[in-house]
Amino acid sequence: MYTKFMNLQLSYWLDDDNIIRRVNDHWDQAMDSQNWSDRASANRIVGKLLSEFICDDVTRMYVATMIESVRVIPHTSFRPYRCDTPDMKRFMQMIITPEDNGWIRISHELLRIEPLEKPVTFSTVTEFSPLRQCKNNQTIHFVRCSICNRLQRYGNRDNTWYEADSLIARSHALSESLKVIYGVCLDCPDKLR
Ligand SMILES: [Zn+2]
Repeated sequence: MYTKFMNLQLSYWLDDDNIIRRVNDHWDQAMDSQNWSDRASANRIVGKLLSEFICDDVTRMYVATMIESVRVIPHTSFRPYRCDTPDMKRFMQMIITPEDNGWIRISHELLRIEPLEKPVTFSTVTEFSPLRQCKNNQTIHFVRCSICNRLQRYGNRDNTWYEADSLIARSHALSESLKVIYGVCLDCPDKLR
């Protein structure tokens, strides 16, 4: 049932200033499909800075570094990442290619899907404050890596990152959505080198 979607590749082109200049023909068709409904339609993103669509500074820097590395030494770069839904692990790949006119083409494709043991939803805490913990102090907050989607307990200093699956296995209170802030784990930037 995913065959059609998996063949869809979403691409956009960036100019020297990282402004989105065009998107590919499949864009709106793919955005209409179930898993992308929260993304922007073509006429709302062309002409805008790519960074406007990345919500946290760390991820913004990560993506900028990736793009810059392709500009400095022209080559095609393949970057795996995750874009999970509440019930599926979606293994994606970003392909960054320099074009002859100086633009950079960025394509996203879905490589495979695996079910999560149990659905889990996340809500983004934009202005995180420890005071937002609930009264009984049981609410767990996480940092979620924008690239690999693993989770770290907020305030944890031992750099342990968990798959959502393993948290579900050891946690008893996942009836509500997990409150997260976004960032990038230490392993993901390492893979850029
Ligand atoms: Zn990561």
